[in-house]
Amino acid sequence: MNTSLPAPRFTSRPLAGQLVDSHCHLDAPDFERDRTQRVQAAMAAGVGQILVPAVFADQFPDTLAMREAYGCWIALGLHPLYLARHLDEHIALLDHYLGEHRPEAVGEIGLDFFVPGLDPQRQEALFVAQLKLARRHDLPVILHLRRAQDRILKYLRQYPVSGGIAHAFNGSEQQAEHFIKLGFKLGFGGAMTYRGSQRIRRLAASLPDSAIVLETDAPDIPPEWAQGQVNAPAELAAFARILAELRGTSVEDIIIITRKNTLDALKQY
Ligand SMILES: [Zn+2]
Repeated sequence: MNTSLPAPRFTSRPLAGQLVDSHCHLDAPDFERDRTQRVQAAMAAGVGQILVPAVFADQFPDTLAMREAYGCWIALGLHPLYLARHLDEHIALLDHYLGEHRPEAVGEIGLDFFVPGLDPQRQEALFVAQLKLARRHDLPVILHLRRAQDRILKYLRQYPVSGGIAHAFNGSEQQAEHFIKLGFKLGFGGAMTYRGSQRIRRLAASLPDSAIVLETDAPDIPPEWAQGQVNAPAELAAFARILAELRGTSVEDIIIITRKNTLDALKQY
């Protein structure tokens, strides 16, 4: 981490008028060289808080360091894309971390039936074990759901949790309704900026006010105007403007509703 600058800190609860990035991998190696500057740029763009979800157990200390250094919110969990790195004992380790460090959520967890070579049965066992941990610790969950919406809905009905966020939502209108009924907010970010993403843009335009949260998923899913570059949390301000355009409302309105929805999803009352 760059220690030449004093670390800027988010307040534990974003202030009224501030944007909240509900999903940003600030602990990723892509930000190793300029993390503090990225946080400063995000703050200058009006971002008042960032949720940093972990992806595998060896990284939990790095994720905790984001809370320590910048006052970020964090989620701890085992991501389906990193299946090869997860060991059975990581569930017990996660259980320990959840009790000891009280993150804001369990995540990033879920299912990915798009990327080949990820054993569906192992993914599902891992997902269910983590839903049980979320229940035990009474924490919301941050969901990764690629080509797996219905399967995830099935498990959420079987092992109900206290809601959370369906990140980078890319399902149908009907699937969106099911997630909302189960207490979830739906995350919109970079994909919404692609003119070709008609379904996502339609959903972003038409879902109820209470269902939507903003996210960058930085360093992933760069917006249309930054293809091939590292996505950054400061882009959230532009995403808010696009969401306002799509919904025919003001940016101020988008900031108010998405901040409230993120606080609700993470039980930050
Ligand atoms: Zn993610």
